[in-house]
Amino acid sequence: MQRQARVIVVGGGCVGAGILYGLARRGWSDCVLLERSHIASGSTRLAGGFIPTYVRSDAASRLINRTIGIYKGLEAETGQAVGWHPCGQMRIARQPGRLDEYRSYMNVAEAIGAEARLLSAREALELWPLIESPEGILGALYHPGDGWVSPTDVTMALLKGARDRGARVQEQARVTGISARRGGGWTLATTAGEWLCEQLVLATGTYARDTGALLGLDLPCMPVVVQYWITDAVPELAARRRQGLPEMPIMRDEHFLGYMREEGDALLFGTYERPEDLQLFGRDGVPESFTGEPLQPDLDAHAWGMERAAGIIPAFARAGIRSNVRGPMQMTADGMPLVGPAWGRHGLWLAEGVPGGILWGGAIGEVLSEWIVEGGTSIDMNELDPRRFGAYATKEWVAAKAVELWGAHSDLILPGQELPAARPARTHPSYDRLAALGAVWGAANGWEVASWYAPAGMAAVDQPGYRDTPASRQVAAEALAVREGVGLVEASAATKLEVSGPGAAGWLDRVLATRLPAVGTVAAGYLLFENGGVRSAFAVHRLAEDLFTLVTGARTERLDHDVLWRLLPAEGGVSLRNVTMERGCFAVTGPRARELLAAIVDADLASAAFPPGAVRTLAVGLAEDVRLARTSSTGELGWELHHPIACQLHLLDRILAAGARHGLRLVGQRALNPLRLDKSYPAVGPDLNAGIGALEGGLGPLLALDKGPFPGRAALLRLQAAGPARRLATLMIATSGASVLGHEGVYRDGRLAGRITSGAFSPTFGADVALALLPADLAAPGTELAVPVLDALCAARVVADSPYDPQGLRLAL
Ligand SMILES: Cc1cc2nc3c(=O)[nH]c(=O)nc-3n(C[C@H](O)[C@H](O)[C@H](O)COP(=O)(O)OP(=O)(O)OC[C@H]3O[C@@H](n4cnc5c(N)ncnc54)[C@H](O)[C@@H]3O)c2cc1C
Repeated sequence: MQRQARVIVVGGGCVGAGILYGLARRGWSDCVLLERSHIASGSTRLAGGFIPTYVRSDAASRLINRTIGIYKGLEAETGQAVGWHPCGQMRIARQPGRLDEYRSYMNVAEAIGAEARLLSAREALELWPLIESPEGILGALYHPGDGWVSPTDVTMALLKGARDRGARVQEQARVTGISARRGGGWTLATTAGEWLCEQLVLATGTYARDTGALLGLDLPCMPVVVQYWITDAVPELAARRRQGLPEMPIMRDEHFLGYMREEGDALLFGTYERPEDLQLFGRDGVPESFTGEPLQPDLDAHAWGMERAAGIIPAFARAGIRSNVRGPMQMTADGMPLVGPAWGRHGLWLAEGVPGGILWGGAIGEVLSEWIVEGGTSIDMNELDPRRFGAYATKEWVAAKAVELWGAHSDLILPGQELPAARPARTHPSYDRLAALGAVWGAANGWEVASWYAPAGMAAVDQPGYRDTPASRQVAAEALAVREGVGLVEASAATKLEVSGPGAAGWLDRVLATRLPAVGTVAAGYLLFENGGVRSAFAVHRLAEDLFTLVTGARTERLDHDVLWRLLPAEGGVSLRNVTMERGCFAVTGPRARELLAAIVDADLASAAFPPGAVRTLAVGLAEDVRLARTSSTGELGWELHHPIACQLHLLDRILAAGARHGLRLVGQRALNPLRLDKSYPAVGPDLNAGIGALEGGLGPLLALDKGPFPGRAALLRLQAAGPARRLATLMIATSGASVLGHEGVYRDGRLAGRITSGAFSPTFGADVALALLPADLAAPGTELAVPVLDALCAARVVADSPYDPQGLRLAL
């Protein structure tokens, strides 16, 4: 028998249940959840139920708060208890670097909606008196609103809430085949018959890669095996009960690289496996024999941590072990779930690769249902969007990254620190040459990109940190070289999408919120969400009447391609091609850029002949088909040389040879950040996104509201009439020895007024320059504010946009 539903959710764990609940709450009751076995028979039943809100991200922090809000309300709504224990959570710091991490987090906590406090060692022990001594404790980070739930109960309650609104659940229905239907929608073959649906959501936990394979999708996630232990009854806990003392917070301690919480009369205890002890699960597919039952304990992997914990917690040392829970948990390369549209498929949504499905379940349900029902989200989803990974994220890549990331779970990961596994994956022909010249590599979208260059005599090894390091001084020197002389940036990792065909210009004009450039020129192009938020920013190169190249950042290759692909006209006439692998790019920028390039380019580079924004195709030495574009993101005179990748080495050698006579300095990606901030250029992602719109971001003068319809236009017209309530403003911050990292709160007379979206130390001004989202009335130049940076409260002042060269005279040199 064939049955149908508007939306089918595959997978009856906490995540799938959250999505069914979210859809039903939005009034979509014709939705069905299919589960291969029975509800909560996957990872959900094994979970410890922890809900930690510790995340340094505005969007993620607010999403997790939504989970807590939903779970808290479920019992009253459905009558089904969820076992919410609001005991709080405490993280003990024993290394100075960890204390810096917590201090830095305290700079952002209030601004990202998290309630947190720093505790002294004495206060930490008051909350967790089973730790014998304060020795070695430097302090602790405390989240009083954290807690834990019963994962199975939460799942049942979510499903009850969904069923009460008309949604259906079918157990013992394993999806064995998925095929797209002509005209849209999906046919699902299941062990309980065939199902049809308009939209399909995959939330299959451990089985994600197997489910993806049914559709030809290589999903960038891989389960790791994790475990925890429950002790016998601990008399000290019973004594606390008798004294009427509250449940102790969940406790995490670097001393034993693990965590502990109360579990009834006992303690629940776990450590983070080191990479050498860590096992993957179902690397080549989940074995047929797997039933979801817990796996055999691995005492060896935890013995070290257990001994360490016993050494500082006598009550734990005296307790025997009652039970173990061990099983697979999905992991991604950045530890964030894959939530959103599947690339290259219409009507297919992913809620896969969720490392903390209990933590995320409620939020994913709410936000994914908003996306499906409303066509967009009110919260920025860039950090969770599955399209943030590209084709480089193969099985081998993700396996290496999963082990690396989980294995480093309790390590001190410093800001900007690049992890080495599965690298190099993608390299450009110039890689060896630049490595020999001191490049210190980072990774972007699988590519190796130079972060900065170590001069002769300095090791080409990164020095990340919360405070300034010798590497920060090199980055500053590179930025100054661009201001004062000329720099070369290897920028080939940038995404390049070619749009062509008789319908290309008309289509792009309907899609972008900006005007198209004339033939032979480059212009900024913005693609908006319907709510007026900013989806993508491109440099639009118009090479012929109907031939364009859209250049954007490396990290959004798959996402931007997919977003444009979804908008392609049904009637055809437009071809969209990803040419990122075919073409490279060097940027030569700085006041001496013209004299350097004049030595190697057979063209008149004077402004009269080659004005700002012009693009010319020519040969440079033996390098053919070089598209020379007079454009720069540094605020200085500059050209980009977009070239066939096969010609890259020759071109590099030419530039370097000429550069030797013109004081050329190699410049890494990091120096570009202060340079663009000096000019108040906002970046899509941190500064512009679904939650920070084009008008708030100051893009007004670039938008073409008077042309025909484009995504977001109606919302912009409404917002324009009312005037944006918030604005991105440029701040100058008097920091010393450490810089803002993003998300910091901005304070006015001691009260939170807004938050930093991005910032960096600017060698041009000798202070930090940042973009901050502020209420419109505080965004006026001259407003005095304060920004916390580690343990200092730094004076900050709003300055007029583009504090460096506000008239743009340097670009027009
Ligand atoms: C020991 C351990 C401790 C953990 N502790 C925590 C914690 O404290 N906090 C936290 O947030 N997370 C924790 N996790 C992780 C958490 O359990 C998972 O992230 C979460 O359960 C994932 O939920 P899910 O719904 O995505 O997947 P699952 O719970 O695995 O559900 C997926 C469901 O899909 C079904 N399915 C698969 N394929 C098909 C198919 N083809 N057709 C139909 N149905 C299908 C499966 O049978 C399964 O029921 C822990 C995990 C483990 C193993």
